[in-house]
Amino acid sequence: MRTQQTLANAVSCTGVGLHSGQPVTLTLKPAPISTGVVFINRNGHNGASLAASIKHVVPTELCTAISGNGFQVKTIEHVLAALAGLNVDNAYVELNAGEAPAMDGSAAHFVRLIRSAGIASQSRRQPYLKITRPLEVVDGTRRVRIEPSLTAKITYSIHYNHPLIQTQTYVYEHSAHAFEHEIANARTFGFLQEVEALWARGLGQGGNLENTIVLSQDGILNESGLRFANEFVRHKILDLIGDFSLLGVPVIGHLIAERSGHAIHTRLVQQILSHPDSWVLLNTDETVTASEPRSAMAAPRSASLVALQAS
Ligand SMILES: [Zn+2]
Repeated sequence: MRTQQTLANAVSCTGVGLHSGQPVTLTLKPAPISTGVVFINRNGHNGASLAASIKHVVPTELCTAISGNGFQVKTIEHVLAALAGLNVDNAYVELNAGEAPAMDGSAAHFVRLIRSAGIASQSRRQPYLKITRPLEVVDGTRRVRIEPSLTAKITYSIHYNHPLIQTQTYVYEHSAHAFEHEIANARTFGFLQEVEALWARGLGQGGNLENTIVLSQDGILNESGLRFANEFVRHKILDLIGDFSLLGVPVIGHLIAERSGHAIHTRLVQQILSHPDSWVLLNTDETVTASEPRSAMAAPRSASLVALQAS
């Protein structure tokens, strides 16, 4: 079992929010042991912080958002996926606007950013949540389920009546290497008629062919083509990894998702927390070395998980 990890240095990127179209600078910074991922509002130098936690999730359309302490931040799933995918447990994510930058619509840019910053080991073991009994959320034909497994694994299936998609199923076995090479580069996608409807409602303002695969009736509008024939299902796995990181600890279990989406992903996270008889928390020792005293901002994640259960 590995130790906790953070970034070795601070790194920034600038882009526009997918839905707001607003310019935004995102800065990733190292954080102390057991901080988890915490967003910091740098809009107007307010500096309020908000943990990337399921308890702060608010219902939104088409993206994952958290709200609290006087601010809201939208479309956090891709940067969260990059952090979780590369096993970065503790980080501050500073934003000077209310939506994370879309970049190219995948997690590739955030992965490059984290790689350029470097990843540093910390002197405490990382707790894991190991699933011991299956849990499931079903909503019509949508379904997401987690089962006991020896590894962190995802099987995702999507079905769309489109010649480039039809049925796509992908099995992902988690490692930083697998995330980087199989999942991180897969871009978000939308159907032309849906994209036009979004624009009409003032959403998707930052969306364009540089950051979204747009499906026409029988192909895609992006001239550069697809990065993988099954890029669509790979992106759904990317979203699921980001959404699941809102649990606050990595999970050992087999996630099985069908026609799923952000709302149902976060419902399963809530269901896990409300069923403590379905998992055990491993590696919860609180060994702290003299060189790394616990920061005042660093609530132990195992403790915050227990607090979540109680609330
Ligand atoms: Zn996405």
